[in-house]
Amino acid sequence: MQLKEILNKNGFKFNKRFGQNFLTDSDLLDEIVKKSGITENDTVVEIGCGGGTLTAAIAKKAKRVIGFEIDTNLKPVLKESLAGFDNVEIIFKDVMKTKTEEIEKLCGGEFALVANIPYYITTPILMKFVEESEKVKSITVTIEAEVADRLTAKAGTEDYGAITAGIDLVGNAEQLMFIDRKMFYPSPNVDSAVVKITMDRDKFRGVDKKAYRDAVRCAFASRRKTLANNLMQSFKMSREEANELVLSVTDNPLARGETLTTEEFVRLSEGLKKYL
Ligand code: SAM
Repeated sequence: MQLKEILNKNGFKFNKRFGQNFLTDSDLLDEIVKKSGITENDTVVEIGCGGGTLTAAIAKKAKRVIGFEIDTNLKPVLKESLAGFDNVEIIFKDVMKTKTEEIEKLCGGEFALVANIPYYITTPILMKFVEESEKVKSITVTIEAEVADRLTAKAGTEDYGAITAGIDLVGNAEQLMFIDRKMFYPSPNVDSAVVKITMDRDKFRGVDKKAYRDAVRCAFASRRKTLANNLMQSFKMSREEANELVLSVTDNPLARGETLTTEEFVRLSEGLKKYL
């Protein structure tokens, strides 16, 4: 039975508050799963199972799927749409209120994350897994196209921001495909894109994460200001000290924070430590 019929049959009412825009095209869902690179050896965490269409596409490929869904009204829908899959476990819980260690324990080791995530909490969900879990090996998410551009932006471009630099410290983000808003039911008023973050925690292993976060936050505090001015404003630093620090990471004394690459942010965070 098609998802729309199952939803109707169970009298399901969409709840806007939970960002419920479902994907129903099975070719598109299979394509997302294929591009995520998961194999029959993988345990996959899905956030926001909705009507279970993506869950089913993942379950056909993966060893196990552990899905989170906040809306208990979807219980009968998911029971019906996922009947016949014995490798799926759905947890009806707010993923943001679930400890990362708890999720890791459920998975019993490394896992991949594949999800069409609720847009109202895209950044908190991504940062929860990127920053808190050493066990997540890849994150493939369908998100707003505009946010996808930010995650994959290059230093010095308008889309480049704190989240780009935060993710690039521990992983490599790439855009896999564009998804027109018309592919969702109901249609949202923005287009989407699928982004894959392949985790690579050895890239800058040993970096002081707090100093790095402080460096990035300060660099983007005021985009119009030079990095030196932002440093003076954010930390108790003289102009000479700020200039010296800037010149230790880039040749341009008037550089703005948004032009710094991840390597340069790492160097900046090293020099910043004595001011924290
Ligand atoms: N995976 C389905 C699909 O692709 O059709 C549904 C995706 S829909 C964009 C997002 C889903 O996340 C909704 O079913 C919503 O109820 C659920 N959701 C929203 N907030 C959540 C949270 N904090 N924890 C778990 N699930 C959540």
